[in-house]
Amino acid sequence: MTSSSLGTMWDAIVVGAGPAGCHAAWELGNRGWKVLLVDRASFPRWKPCAGGITVKAAPYIPNELHHLFERTIHETVISWGPDRVTRLHCRKPVGWMVHREEFDQAHLDLVRSLATVRVMEGTPVRGVVEDNDSVRVETGAGTFQGRALVGADGVESVVARLFKGWDQREFVAAFELEGWLPAGDHGIATQFDFASFPGGYGWAFPKRRRCSIGGYVGGQYARQVREQCRRFQSSWSTLQGCEIYRQRGYRLPLGGTLRPYNSSRIVLAGDAADAVDPVTGEGIAQAFRTSHLAAAAIDRFLSCDRALDGYSWRLWKEIHGPFRLARKLSGLMYGHPSAAFRLMFRNRLLCRYFVRVLRGEMSYAGLLARTVLAMPVLPAYRCRGAEVAVEVP
Ligand SMILES: Cc1cc2nc3c(=O)[nH]c(=O)nc-3n(C[C@H](O)[C@H](O)[C@H](O)COP(=O)(O)OP(=O)(O)OC[C@H]3O[C@@H](n4cnc5c(N)ncnc54)[C@H](O)[C@@H]3O)c2cc1C
Repeated sequence: MTSSSLGTMWDAIVVGAGPAGCHAAWELGNRGWKVLLVDRASFPRWKPCAGGITVKAAPYIPNELHHLFERTIHETVISWGPDRVTRLHCRKPVGWMVHREEFDQAHLDLVRSLATVRVMEGTPVRGVVEDNDSVRVETGAGTFQGRALVGADGVESVVARLFKGWDQREFVAAFELEGWLPAGDHGIATQFDFASFPGGYGWAFPKRRRCSIGGYVGGQYARQVREQCRRFQSSWSTLQGCEIYRQRGYRLPLGGTLRPYNSSRIVLAGDAADAVDPVTGEGIAQAFRTSHLAAAAIDRFLSCDRALDGYSWRLWKEIHGPFRLARKLSGLMYGHPSAAFRLMFRNRLLCRYFVRVLRGEMSYAGLLARTVLAMPVLPAYRCRGAEVAVEVP
């Protein structure tokens, strides 16, 4: 850290303190770099999110946050309305449920405990200017200067606006009702329902005391999604007892876009880098993964002046390339949800493959290839009956 005309010259400025920003600041701070982490919100802040984190994020979540895992996901119900139910029993966990408000607050507090990181909450970033020697960040509390910057300011990212292709992103919409679980044995399982939302799916994600009920839909259905969430809740007797205390929707940027995610001194991570899985709407695991890659790229840049250029390519190879195929798959699935449900989630073998994709053990390309190869034997794995149980290793 050196002095400049604007005061302190930070090694790195991180904009946004969600999972992506906190993790980037955590890795950079732990490597000894002086980091300024800025968020417009004062924490705890509410981020509409169902709080399902798959095991893909496990390598990046510090042990100090594990007590915030409110449930471990072994059992999942996949349904076509109440009359067609597939119960998956997964021996290895698929992931965990967290309450985002508490998880993000604890994450930020952990990062704040590093002597190398300074956190500024309630500080909206209004503009970013990059020149040959530094990046300047204009905020409500003054202008700050850094040698490099991570844009992790979410789907409405101010930083991402500097980049070509920003206006060509594609979005889906998600809306959630957040409520208290009814007392006693309520029988609510982690659930995905394909019959209730055109162009997407509905979910119920129970936690320790709370439950997130919501819908993930294509952008063209965004207007109806609030009403559909209400109908979804009332159509399931298990969900009717949840006492809803707040509700909100938000946009999600679909992964699979080929555009730059770095400049000479800036990298984008998480939702700012469109890292959302087009099939599931999952973004937290990719927020961790992209910020890990971002921190590694910035570390190399700061320590040995290596250009950040490889970052966009890495994102393309790991995230946006595979998600291009996932976009096509989601178009097929949500364009023909009844057929997709019957083919995929009424077949024991394909259910197992799908769980492997969720766990990060198989890619979408692998899922398609395996499905094609398994065609001759698929009928032997078909499930019959209103309610079926599938064991997944
Ligand atoms: C209804 C809904 C349900 C979802 N459920 C799931 C789920 O169950 N599992 C899952 O994996 N994903 C889910 N997602 C997606 C997930 O929430 C996001 O992908 C994830 O939060 C991305 O993390 P992030 O750190 O990139 O961005 P965010 O978590 O959005 O954090 C961005 C931060 O930047 C700050 N910020 C924004 N603008 C500025 C600015 N100008 N200046 C300073 N700070 C700024 C914000 O205050 C915020 O704290 C869901 C999304 C929605 C909408």
